[in-house]
Amino acid sequence: MKCCILEEPGRLVVAERPDPTPGPRDVVVRVRAALTCGTDLKAFRRGHPKMPCPTPFGHEFAGEIVAAGHEVERFRVGQAVMSANTGPCGACFYCERDQENLCETIMDAMILGAYAEYVRIPERVLRVNVFEKPAELPFEQAALLEPLSSVCFGIAGVPAPVMRKDATALVIGAGPIALLWLVALRASGTVRTIVAGRRPARLAVARAFGADVTLGEHDDVAAAVRRETEGRGADLVVECTGLPEVWSAAPAYARRGGHVVLFGGCRPGTTVALDTYRFHYDGVTLASPFHFRPRDVARAHGLLRRPDVDWSRFITSRAPLEETPAVFARLEDGNDVKCAIIPGFPGSNVSPTPPGA
Ligand SMILES: [Zn+2]
Ligand SMILES: [Zn+2]
Repeated sequence: MKCCILEEPGRLVVAERPDPTPGPRDVVVRVRAALTCGTDLKAFRRGHPKMPCPTPFGHEFAGEIVAAGHEVERFRVGQAVMSANTGPCGACFYCERDQENLCETIMDAMILGAYAEYVRIPERVLRVNVFEKPAELPFEQAALLEPLSSVCFGIAGVPAPVMRKDATALVIGAGPIALLWLVALRASGTVRTIVAGRRPARLAVARAFGADVTLGEHDDVAAAVRRETEGRGADLVVECTGLPEVWSAAPAYARRGGHVVLFGGCRPGTTVALDTYRFHYDGVTLASPFHFRPRDVARAHGLLRRPDVDWSRFITSRAPLEETPAVFARLEDGNDVKCAIIPGFPGSNVSPTPPGA
């Protein structure tokens, strides 16, 4: 099969590899759509601690089962599925405490290599984090399951006094994750949303998703938040940039007793300074959730089925597998939300071959 390998930061190639075969409890999926993601872009630019190079690349996908191990019971060949990229062990210290996102071995069975014709879903993932794809949900939208799961985990951690129907949320950043937060917050009932970003094209998507206020590079975010909240500050501030200076700045936008989610992972080794007064005397709380638990994946699966959200807006371009390296070179300019990599997409002169054929 054809698949994308990140040889080293900045060098992505399309290579021939043996077709994956399932173990007794695994399945192999023919990838129908895989989505580009900020994590992949980070890994492409500068490497990633969870993806040592050379590495198969891509982790957001949906497709059809083309082979199943003889002990697989819940799924069958021919079924369309959507999948997260990991599954917890269910037995370690953290899993026992319902902190499956921190499972000691969660990254060991991580699915990498979704920019490929086929990908294997190991038993651990299949057991808890794979769902049948509803027929009405296109593959490229079903592939949002993984990033939306991490957002659902973040939302689950927002304290009840903040997560109210009359809350005002400030989302900092307008990339794919920020937009998923916007959509998930609105779907959870948050009434007012303010999105601060840099790219006009993405702010336009934020408005299309119902953001009440969008702020660009030259706007005064603090002043706008005060104006929108009778001077109090936002109930919830969600940082989605992964920049230490934005982490430091984020608590200033929260109201007393508000909550700050630092969601964008920063470069390893970075540190931030925080205004202690805000946390102690103003009662601002802080969380920095990473990854997700099976219940968050289930919640994301439910959200993706909601007919009142137009998930298609997340996919702003499509490309055949062979063009993945060019897509990543182009993503640098930041005009796309997500590009769907579609093996066999028109324009590609290679059509996928079934495994074993
Ligand atoms: Zn991702
Ligand atoms: Zn575990």
